[in-house]
Amino acid sequence: MSALRTSLARLSAPRWSGAVSRARVLPAVRTQIRTYKADPARDAMTGEIIQLPDIDSNLTKITLTDSPKKRPASSKLVFGHTFTDHMLTIPWNSATGWANPEIRPYGPLDLDPSCTVFHYAFTLFEGMKAYRNADGTVRLFRPDKNMARMNRSAARIALPTFDGAELTELIKKLVMVDKDWIPQDKGFSLYIRPTLIATQKALGVGPSSDALLFVICCPVGPYYASGFKPVQLLATTKYVRATPGGTGSYKLGANYAPGIVPQKEAMAEGYSQNLWLLGDEHALTEVGTMNLFVAFKQADGSVELCTPPLDDVVLPGVTRDSVLEVARDHASGKTPIPGLPADIKVSERKLIMKDLVDAEKNGTLLEVFGTGTAAIISSVDKIGYEGRDLIIPTGPAGMGAISKAMLDRIVGIQTGEIEHEWSVVANDVKI
Ligand SMILES: *Cc1c(COP(=O)(O)O)cnc(C)c1O
Repeated sequence: MSALRTSLARLSAPRWSGAVSRARVLPAVRTQIRTYKADPARDAMTGEIIQLPDIDSNLTKITLTDSPKKRPASSKLVFGHTFTDHMLTIPWNSATGWANPEIRPYGPLDLDPSCTVFHYAFTLFEGMKAYRNADGTVRLFRPDKNMARMNRSAARIALPTFDGAELTELIKKLVMVDKDWIPQDKGFSLYIRPTLIATQKALGVGPSSDALLFVICCPVGPYYASGFKPVQLLATTKYVRATPGGTGSYKLGANYAPGIVPQKEAMAEGYSQNLWLLGDEHALTEVGTMNLFVAFKQADGSVELCTPPLDDVVLPGVTRDSVLEVARDHASGKTPIPGLPADIKVSERKLIMKDLVDAEKNGTLLEVFGTGTAAIISSVDKIGYEGRDLIIPTGPAGMGAISKAMLDRIVGIQTGEIEHEWSVVANDVKI
C-alpha cells in the first residue's frame, strides 16, 4: 500500500467533505473505469440500457485517515461502541448502477433529510465477524452466507442487489486496512456491519432511485465479558415479532425497533429477552434477535436437538445453519465431536410451549439456547411463561454439554484452529 501512497493526486471532489479533505487520497487501482461506471452499456439499436455496472472491487479508491484513533484496551471494549478508522461506501443509482467503492476514513454520512431511509425504513443490515490469530492471519466466517442473505433482504424492499463475491472482496480489503484493530486475544474479534439504505431525496412511498451500501467495523470482546451467563426469557404472547407473510425472515431494520418495548417490559419483570411465540399453540420462533434451539431427552435415551423450521417468521441465521450442520455431521459419524452424546437426532420442526412445559415436568428438557453471530451460543436457564418459570439445567459452567460442544467447534473453525472451508482467509486480498 505504501507504493500507492506516494501518488496522492486527488481524483474527484469527495462526496463527503470533512474528514476526507484532510486525508491522504489514494488513486483507485484502475480509475479510468469510473467514466464507464457512470455511463452504462446501451443497446446499439434501441439505446436501452442493457446492463448496469455491478459492484467491482477492482475499482476501489482507498483514502487513508491521517488522524488514526487511539485504540482502546481490549478489556475496555463495549459491544458496538468502538469503530475502526475506516469504512466502505458504495453508492448506487437506478440509471447508472453501482458506483466505484471507496474505503475512506470512518465518519458521518451527509444525507438529505428527505432521504427515503428516514421516513419509510428502507434499511437492511448484516452482522459478521473477522478473527485475527497470533500469526496475523485474518479470517471471515462463511461470508457467502451473509452476502446471499443481504441480497435477499435487498430484493424484498426493492433495493438493488449486487455481486456478493465482490462485496466479500471489499470487506476483506476493509478488514485488512484496519487489521490492527482486530484484537488477537482469545474470544475477541472484529464485528462487521454491512448496511444498505435508500437515499433518494424525495418523500413518496415507492422504490428508491438511489441507495448507499456501507460497511463499518467494531472490535469486540466475548459477548459475555465475565464468562458465560445464561439468559432468562419471557415467553410473550402479548406481542409478535413476525407474522406469516411478513418480513421476519429478512434482516430489515424495520423488524427491530418494534422489539424494544417488549424487551424493556421483559427486563422490568426480571428477564433479559423475549421468547417470541406465535399463534394459538404458542409456537416458539426466536429468542430476542437470535435463533432458538432446544434439546430433549427421548424415551430411548437418545437426544433430539431441534430448532423451528425456516419460514416467514424465522430469520435464516448463519450460526443456526452452522449448528445444524455440525450436529448433523456428528450424528452421521462424518465429524464426531468429543463430549457429545453419540445418538443425536437433529430436527427442524414446529415447537410449541406445551412441548417445553411437558419436558420440564418429565425431566427431559436438557438444554435451551440461542444462536447468533454476536454471542454465537447463548444458553437459557429460565423461561417465564403464563405466570410461572420453567427452569432449564445449565450445569456449573453455565452451559450444557451440547451448547458447549457447538460453541467450541464453531469458534475453532472461526479462529482457524480447526481447518474448515467455512473459514475464509482475507490476507491475500489486493489493497
Ligand atoms: C441476525 C439474526 C439472527 C442470527 O443470525 P446469524 O446469522 O446467526 O447472526 C437470528 N435472528 C434474528 C432476528 C436476527 O436478526
